Amino acid sequence: MNCGQALEQARLILTDSGIDEPFLEGEILLRHTLDVDRATLFASLNEELTPVQVALFLQLVERRRLGEPSAYITGSREFFGLDFKVDRRVLIPRPETELVVEKAIDLYRRNKYDTMADIGTGSGCIAISLARHLAGVHVYALDISSDALEIAAQNSLLHHVQDKITFIHGDLLEPLPGPVDIMIANLPYVKKTEMNLKSEPELALDGGVEGLDKINNLCRQAPGKIIPGGRLLLEIGQGQAEAVKAIIHNTFPDGVIDIYKDLSGIDRVVSVRLTG
Ligand code: GLN
Repeated sequence: MNCGQALEQARLILTDSGIDEPFLEGEILLRHTLDVDRATLFASLNEELTPVQVALFLQLVERRRLGEPSAYITGSREFFGLDFKVDRRVLIPRPETELVVEKAIDLYRRNKYDTMADIGTGSGCIAISLARHLAGVHVYALDISSDALEIAAQNSLLHHVQDKITFIHGDLLEPLPGPVDIMIANLPYVKKTEMNLKSEPELALDGGVEGLDKINNLCRQAPGKIIPGGRLLLEIGQGQAEAVKAIIHNTFPDGVIDIYKDLSGIDRVVSVRLTG
């Protein structure tokens, strides 16, 4: 079997079991099997695989077919152009979360900001992307899960930004040492009834009955933890923009709110500029 045939076989198996993007998923698994990048794989479609490689590849395809996310199978996921180590202890970074990183980078560059906080850092993908792109920034990365912090710390070493990030264990803002210029949070916001857990940690997704429990709690704790003139950037779920605006209005009546849509046209990021 050559590489091209292996990809075709994976596509057929994964299509049959209703897996989304079967060709891409097969490609990710074959690249992992052969430890090659995309360009190398596509330049070697006619090359024969060894029997051991075929067996290993088909094992991975079978795990995917049974529902295990490919990021957990390969142990990594690309986010904002960087590879992050992930396992079952953290949420798999989502492409739509790149929006909150883009907004934070833009705000940092246009203002005299220094410090940021990433609340519920998980794999560390937001904090680490920011640290990689912004000279002079310091990021506090907080999480209630010490397992997640362990992975985030490993990712910071992998991307050589460990000196720009302080990892802190604790519940939401309680352990944050002082006010920051920009606070970013991709908190769990999935409604309890819409939770469809396959492999990811419940702690990273469950936002309570309306999905807004954690966002609500964070906003309640936020006064005094962001400087006047600073920003709060929240990732939200589909259909939550109005409810989140109301929550923010309660805590920061003078805050200036902007909403940004992701590439699918869904309201995804709520930005608040604190006046004063
Ligand atoms: N966007 C994620 C999902 O729908 C949820 C992420 C979160 O709760 N912060 O699976």
